[in-house]
Amino acid sequence: MKKTVSLILALLMCFTMAVNGMADYSAGTYTGTAAGRNGDITVEVILSGDAIESVTVTAHQETPGISDAALASVPAAIVEKQSLAVDTVAGATITSAAIIDAVEAALISAGVDAEALKTAETADAVEAELVVSDETYDIIVIGGGPAGLMASVTASEKGARVLLLEKMPYVGGNMLISGGCIQAADTSVQRAYGIVGDTVEQYMEEDRDPESPYATDDPAFTRTMYRGCSDMIEELVGRGLEFVDYDPVMRYHVIGPAMFYGGNTLAQMLKDQAVAAGAVFKLNTRATGLVTDEAGSVTGVIVDDNGHPVQYNASAVIVATGGFSSNNELISTYYPEYHLLPSSASVGTTGDGFIMATAVGAATRGMDTDQQMFFVSADTNIGIPMLLMSCNAILVNQSGDRFVNEDLDDYAAAHVTAYQEGSIGYMILSEEIRRALPEIQDYIDQGAVVEASSIDELAEKIGTENLAATLAHYNEMAAAGSDADFGRTFNFSELTSSGNWYAIKVIPAVFNSFGGIAIDLDTHVLREDGSVIGGLYAAGEVTGSVEVWEGYYYTTGIGQALVYGKIAANTAVDEIGR
Ligand code: ADP
Repeated sequence: MKKTVSLILALLMCFTMAVNGMADYSAGTYTGTAAGRNGDITVEVILSGDAIESVTVTAHQETPGISDAALASVPAAIVEKQSLAVDTVAGATITSAAIIDAVEAALISAGVDAEALKTAETADAVEAELVVSDETYDIIVIGGGPAGLMASVTASEKGARVLLLEKMPYVGGNMLISGGCIQAADTSVQRAYGIVGDTVEQYMEEDRDPESPYATDDPAFTRTMYRGCSDMIEELVGRGLEFVDYDPVMRYHVIGPAMFYGGNTLAQMLKDQAVAAGAVFKLNTRATGLVTDEAGSVTGVIVDDNGHPVQYNASAVIVATGGFSSNNELISTYYPEYHLLPSSASVGTTGDGFIMATAVGAATRGMDTDQQMFFVSADTNIGIPMLLMSCNAILVNQSGDRFVNEDLDDYAAAHVTAYQEGSIGYMILSEEIRRALPEIQDYIDQGAVVEASSIDELAEKIGTENLAATLAHYNEMAAAGSDADFGRTFNFSELTSSGNWYAIKVIPAVFNSFGGIAIDLDTHVLREDGSVIGGLYAAGEVTGSVEVWEGYYYTTGIGQALVYGKIAANTAVDEIGR
């Protein structure tokens, strides 16, 4: 079989300088602290007369799942290499750097010349040649988000030999930093919360976007997804997952232990179950290309194995690499108006699967739709979710003018903000809001909030000339009971402060891709002419948002990924005859 992919990579291999000279330093236990992603990280460093004996992180508030690898591997690397010139962990660079800084602080307090431990040596570039692995698999799944994890567990439980490739040191993908909820109708969880009689049809009717240009008479992908989500909730309950809350407005099934923390629970559960069923997981292993035969069918995957290109062959390849929100080149190509926006998605969402699949002929679908976006602090990049919807704060632009109904959901408000000067908005908050919403203190602690004793002072600090006039006009409308400008009704009340005023400078950050590679209902990847690319399947956000490209509001990314990941596994297993 002629392989159409062959590559030679030039690699830069870094060698850490061996360190000696520790002998002068006093043995003992020292502590150091540095600011991590979510707060301070404290380490305990034990020095013997001539070595760093151990590094232990004793306190931190980093995000479970995402930070786990950094918390484990960075201290170990410092001890192993006796150096501060160690690699940071992809996806957890802030955490990694904070651990290194905290260890440096501890070493300085011990009288160690920490600067000398920071030097790394770089060796010359070397060339690596493609090696074809003798490990063979029935199915290779690329990506360990909800789509890839569900595909792996399903296929391996059906007896297929599965290899899952994940480029990050952890699995979970975007759901690690999402609300960790699945939207679904007609479930036992709903009924346990007293919601009886909800149906998939009703859910679909409510979520249809009457203004969407993409409406279709036969929303088959959306129906498959919504029906699949109902079954998926029951499957996950059967697998032992606990839903700890239910939101009747959004139909959110909240995964334990709590909102915003459930993604990691689901990821670990599915990974454990896939591994128990025989799946092989290779973390820190990035797929770089698909291998095709003369007919154009996919027969394997090339990966970057610590700088070495390795080819794994399989009968089927499922691409589950997520979207491309973190790939500015793809964003600039498909959504040039968003090229200045940051990404709030996981760092893994660089469109690799989109690029690999289109390189072997995959068609795209929905590229004229949109990107899901949410607000982040323009100063610190931390997420500012659902703040406007929970209080009577107003949103103004750089001139200090309101420009949107603040009652809109985060996506809609962020979308409008993208088109303001500099794509910047300022959420203006009162003392009362600060006291009512505990998360504001977190935002203050993390440096995302500007504080002033009067509205004029605030306007001057943030440079929003019309702010005082805007507020006076807004309060007049609120007293009269009608927002003649933007139609706000829900949190529409006078905004006054009994103490300080606060502003959070926000910018929309792209999170989900609504467009992606084209599939059929069985998840076969399609060419432009509608034909199927043999051996290639795709599921989850790499295919965009199936409901958006059929005229529905974006709803449940985790749900879509799980449902279509399962379909991909079932189709692939059937077709390879396991
Ligand atoms: P979905 O919701 O569709 O499952 P996610 O973004 O949650 O998508 O997960 C996609 C996963 O794929 C992430 O964990 C990401 O790190 C991983 N990934 C992306 N590109 C590659 C690649 N080239 N090789 C291996 N894993 C990848």
